[in-house]
Amino acid sequence: MLRKLKSWLGVDKQSKYVREYFYMTNMKASIYMSIVVIVLEIWMILRMTRTIFEKNLQSQIWTLTEKYYSNYVLLLSSGILMLLYAIRALTKKHKHKWIAFLVMIMCAAVAVFEVWMLSKYNGSGKKLADLVNYIILLSAAILMMIFSVLLMRGSEDRKWQSLSVMYVFSFVCINFGIIISVNGYAKGEQMLTFLTMELFVICLLVWRPIWGFIVLTVSYLIFYYRISGMIDLSTVGKFTGVVDFSTVETGLGDGIKINGFTMWLSTLLFCIANYNKTLSQAQKDENLEEMNTYLSRISVEDELTGIHNMVYFRSEAEKLLNYVTTDKERVIFLFFDIENFKSYNDKYGFYAGNELLIKFAHEINNSFKGSLVARYSDDHFVVLTQSEGSMDIIEMLSESIHHLQGEVQLSLKCGAYKPLGNESDVSHACDRARFACNNIKKHFGRSFCLYDKTLEERFTLKQYIVNNIDNAIENDCIKVYYQPVVSTKDGTICGFEALARWKEPNYGLLPPAMFIDVLEEYRQIHKLDMCIIENVCRDYRNAVDNNEPFVPVSLNFSRLDFELCDIVGYLGKMADKYKVPKSYLDVEITESALTEQQNFLQNATKKLHESGYSIWLDDFGSGYSSLNVLKDYNFDVMKIDMKFLSGFDDNAKTKTILKNVVDLTKQLGMNSLTEGVETAEQFKFLESIGCDKVQGYYFSKPQPYEEIKKLITSGKLKMPSNA
Ligand code: C2E
Ligand code: MG
Ligand code: MG
Repeated sequence: MLRKLKSWLGVDKQSKYVREYFYMTNMKASIYMSIVVIVLEIWMILRMTRTIFEKNLQSQIWTLTEKYYSNYVLLLSSGILMLLYAIRALTKKHKHKWIAFLVMIMCAAVAVFEVWMLSKYNGSGKKLADLVNYIILLSAAILMMIFSVLLMRGSEDRKWQSLSVMYVFSFVCINFGIIISVNGYAKGEQMLTFLTMELFVICLLVWRPIWGFIVLTVSYLIFYYRISGMIDLSTVGKFTGVVDFSTVETGLGDGIKINGFTMWLSTLLFCIANYNKTLSQAQKDENLEEMNTYLSRISVEDELTGIHNMVYFRSEAEKLLNYVTTDKERVIFLFFDIENFKSYNDKYGFYAGNELLIKFAHEINNSFKGSLVARYSDDHFVVLTQSEGSMDIIEMLSESIHHLQGEVQLSLKCGAYKPLGNESDVSHACDRARFACNNIKKHFGRSFCLYDKTLEERFTLKQYIVNNIDNAIENDCIKVYYQPVVSTKDGTICGFEALARWKEPNYGLLPPAMFIDVLEEYRQIHKLDMCIIENVCRDYRNAVDNNEPFVPVSLNFSRLDFELCDIVGYLGKMADKYKVPKSYLDVEITESALTEQQNFLQNATKKLHESGYSIWLDDFGSGYSSLNVLKDYNFDVMKIDMKFLSGFDDNAKTKTILKNVVDLTKQLGMNSLTEGVETAEQFKFLESIGCDKVQGYYFSKPQPYEEIKKLITSGKLKMPSNA
């Protein structure tokens, strides 16, 4: 309530921007006001001078000077001074010192005249109002002289000076209005000069409502006080046409009181409206300005860490590489990755993770002072710096990350790339440095890797994969290889695993290890998996249509498939299109995809189950959270990772572990399948411990369906009788 009242009166605290806005608005308005005043006063002075000469009024020259001239001259000089100050405030320049000098002379003349008038004042026949008026004019003239001198000294725009001049100017205007109108009123004329000056000062300039009210009310009261002792000539003899002064009382008539009050009220209301309009405009502009500042800041600054972002990095790095003075031989791009940051986030939460990133960002920024440093994304940073000395800084940063890590083992990986010759493609350089960095990920003890020829070949292939996946799918270069899954009960094929191969004209047949990770990194993996789904469904339809045997196929799904597309919906669509029974399509999800608690994956697996597909847990035992995964998800088959078989011959524990894992699957109501069976001993052992299914080179490598058919025909692989 109090705040509302304060803001209504305009006594609340305003921001610097709003104060500046008001100042500039008033300076602009002062320009118009002072120009009008200057023109009017010059005209008035000339007119008065002409009247004096025409009507031979030289004898009254002192009276006229006292009454009008000194006022005109003072108003004229204050108008000129205001104009000079307003121009200086708006242009920040002041060139016309000689005009300020002229103003000073004019004001000095007025001051001398008023001092002389004061010295002549002896109280007899003169009213107190005249004395007050001499003092007012003298003070205004002295103030004006001071400000003329300040302006002549050519100092910079000082707000308090311009505002003081504005207040003195307003004061002189209103005082002029009162004097002229009081004189005019005494002669039965209108009080238009007073009203005009009021409108000028109160409505053209922007006043806080409380000040507008005070200035307006005080000036009206003074004016009414000055004229109240006079006869109201506007009402005298109105009805009779005859003026009998003996019967007329002095004082103000109702007409003038009501009109005066209405004028006072409308001017005050206009003053308040003007203030509020300007204030809201100022606040709107301030918000816009703040927004612009914010936008321009975030366009070059990383929002979280406050260091530069990639937009800034790219443009500055490009400029730097193109400078003739840059010694390109010594320039190096560094890409940093905080390994295991995800685990830190999981353990300490999102905010603590952000805190760590902010601290590290400042650490890296300070360590590479004078170099270009930016946050690339997530926990990745890039630096463009001089190669000399950078190794020491990298080591120091690797050390410092351990101080921030808490209970989670963090390590800093750095990839480096030295641009060749005139190379100036920043994105290209960052990509290579990143590639070098990724190359040492999960390599304990390695924290630095320089991009070299070997990496270049791998990088080129990676680029090729990302750029050509669409073409490869379109041109039928993605092939499905089938690897049989054999039942330990009767040694027949109980399923196939569909494994992708990329037939590439230049590189030959690419195994999944060369493209799966790349496609996942560039979020293109769903395209491949969708292609494999359709190929498998089509193969099923062809086989069935040709009366060839076929068994259920397990498809490898990536965790990203569930994010990047409606893979379950697509699987259903393809099954419908090629009329494949759902029991012929199983879905493998690798264990490492399930390490985090992900609701969406739980929902997706639930949806798959509800749609009638079996879900297999792939590569069980290759990750770290196997047992939790068993608790959180429902699987039909557990595929035991081939790593379990790696020490089969010489490590006695292998068999015990395998047996226990197979028992565990039974207890959890799942079927077990062991991958990577390569020998008859392994097969026999797995059969003996009750492992339901096996898969491996011992039976067949993954092959095109045509080749598998040959193995079946030759009797090397046996199909079940119901296939
Ligand atoms: P996975 O799903 O665990 O597939 C089994 C991998 O083990 C296959 O490698 C297979 O060739 C290999 N393998 C099978 N038996 C033996 C054996 O006795 N000894 C040895 N040393 N290896 C054996 P491949 O075909 O290179 O596939 C590698 C991985 O790529 C797969 O592992 C799977 O995770 C992924 N992958 C393959 N095709 C696709 C696909 O279409 N989509 C997705 N998302 N991933 C796929
Ligand atoms: Mg698999
Ligand atoms: Mg596997």
